[in-house]
Formats: sequence, C-alpha cells, structure tokens
Amino acid sequence: MVVNPVVLKRVYDLHQAEYDEAALRALHSGWYILGREMEEFEQSLASWAGVRHCVALNSGTDALILAVRALGIGAGDEVIVPANAYIASVIGITENGATPVFVDADDHMEIDADRIEEKITRRTKAILPVHLYGQSSRMEEISMLAKKHGLKLIEDCAQCLGAKYDGKLAGTFGDIGCLSFYPTKPLGAFGDAGAILTNDDALAERVRLLRNYGSKVKYHNEINGVNSRMDEVQAAVLKVGLKYLEESNEERRRQAKAYREGIKNPKVWIPEEYKGVYHVYHLFPVLVEEREGFQSFLKENGIGTQVHYPIPPYVAECYQSYGYGWEDFPNAARYARSEVSLPIYAGMPEEELQYVIDVINRW
Ligand SMILES: *Cc1c(COP(=O)(O)O)cnc(C)c1O
Repeated sequence: MVVNPVVLKRVYDLHQAEYDEAALRALHSGWYILGREMEEFEQSLASWAGVRHCVALNSGTDALILAVRALGIGAGDEVIVPANAYIASVIGITENGATPVFVDADDHMEIDADRIEEKITRRTKAILPVHLYGQSSRMEEISMLAKKHGLKLIEDCAQCLGAKYDGKLAGTFGDIGCLSFYPTKPLGAFGDAGAILTNDDALAERVRLLRNYGSKVKYHNEINGVNSRMDEVQAAVLKVGLKYLEESNEERRRQAKAYREGIKNPKVWIPEEYKGVYHVYHLFPVLVEEREGFQSFLKENGIGTQVHYPIPPYVAECYQSYGYGWEDFPNAARYARSEVSLPIYAGMPEEELQYVIDVINRW
C-alpha cells in the first residue's frame, strides 16, 4: 500500500462540485482583485472567529510581516518567539528589521511559557507564540505576561485555525492573529493566501492600507505599503472551505486519536496534548531517536513521512549572524533531530491509517 503524508487532490475531491462552482463564479464575475468574494470571505471568517476584523492577504508570511509592521515594531526592537518556530514566523520579525529573541520549547512542543519572562528586556516589544502542529500555546499565561509587561501579542495561527485554549479560539487572545491558507493548512486555498484577525479597528485599517500600496484612495499613498491582496478566486474557494473547517478538524482529531490508541511501539514517542486544549492536528508529530531508520522502514513499506522541521530557525543559515549554536535550545534541538510527521489529512482513507499503525508497530 502507498500512503502519502497528505494528498491534496483528495482534500479537493471532498467538496469538488462546490469548489468548482465558487471558482467559476469568481472567474465569470469579471472582477478579480479586492472584490465581493474577498469581502464576503473576510466577513464570514471574522464572524466565525467572533472578532471584529479579518483582513485577507496574499500569504501567511505576509500576515506576519504586516502584523509586526502595523504594530510599529522595527529596528532596535525585540520580539520573543519560540526556538522551534517555522522560519516564516521569524521572517515576520526580521523583515521589519527587528530582532528575534528565542525561547525554548516545552514538553508539548510549544513555546515554554515559564521561560518567556526571563527573556524580556527594555527593548522587547512583543511576544509571538507559534501554535505548532495544530495545538495552541499556553495563551492564558502568555496573555497575562504580555499585559503585565505592556507587550503586544501576535499569534502565529498558520497551523491551528479552529484550535482552542480553555475554550477560547487561538488567534483571538492577542492584538492580532496571523493565518495562512497554504493548501495543506487546516483551511487551505488552491494557491497562496493568508489573513489577519483582530479586534482593533485602527490596526485592521493599517493592515488594509499596507496590503494595497499604503493607499485607501487610489494613488494617495499614505504609508509605505506593499501588494499583498487575496485574489477573488482564492477568496471564493476559501468561503467553501470555511463551511467544512470544523468538520475536517474533527476528522483529523479522530485520526490522531486512532494513532494515539493504536501505536504501541515504545521507540515511537507521542507528545501529550496540554490539558484543556482543542488540538486540530494540522500535523501528527511523533519523536523517534533513530529517525533515519524509522523513516526508511516506513518508506520501504510505501509510507511517506515528513519532518517539521529539521533545522530550527535559530541555526538557519540566514540567521548565522545571531551566533546561536544547536545546543542553546536543547528541546528545540531534540525536536529538530527526532520529529517525524505521520500522514494525516481530511479525506485520508481509514485503511491507510490502520496500515500506518500496523507498520509502525512492526518496526
Ligand atoms: C505555513 C506557515 C507560515 C507561512 O504561511 P505561508 O502562507 O506559507 O506564507 C507561517 N507560520 C507557520 C507556523 C506556518 O506553518
């Protein structure tokens, strides 16, 4: 049997007729940028999330860059970010000339909330938790820290749309939540797309200006902006995807439960969820010391796996000037060396999931 980590064609096939109808409606409309589809998508996502504003953008990376910029964070400022973040979370900081200050991950693979305070300096302007794998970071503690120290709170929700911490939606704790609709994400477009969520009217307005050359009225450029607009075709298909978001999150949660209950191999460690978290399992990470042997055994049996992520951002080639070494953040280093993401996605056949479990138990 061949099992791929994710099969996007199957995700599309789940609601193909509706996606096709939406895409064609956008194409036939004759209006392709900053139109009605985008506005409707922004309104439906904002109301689904229970926030005042959603601003649709071109990617999750842009959402992070523009969130940091809209908060006025730049050169000389520091932003706290997990050491095991995805590179794009850090790009959001460095693209604005600010400095990332890393905090190691805890046993649940999220930023260690107990070690944030020791990293706060006079220059710290914001905390940027990255809700990895579909879980939420410890937002209650992190929100309290931000409030106590007068810091902005930017959430990277690219992997966790629908995740909750103590019943509250991740992405709605802080000043601004950043979303990616990269095709594999919990809510996936059929191309690049992203957005921000916020309850702050002025902040939303600023991101709206930034995404469109810094202008509200054509040719009147109030601030130094970029082009980061979501096109009408992506907005149209995302409206369809949003209708099924909760259903597909539930499906991956069931798949994760089957993995947790079925995998009995003592060499394969499954990190525990936080108590009280609603995890949406964008990915299903396991930790395996003999990663290479494990991945090749699975591969010999037709099973593809991925690693999220083999090189943590603090030792990325592009950030060498910060001078960090692998061992500066031992948990992040351990995860980078031992993490394996098992196949998981809405539309994955039950027998493939069971087959993955059987092969893992045979290893
Ligand atoms: C995917 C992702 C991003 C970047 O999103 P793009 O839409 O690919 O630019 C940022 N942060 C995290 C945690 C991600 O998983």
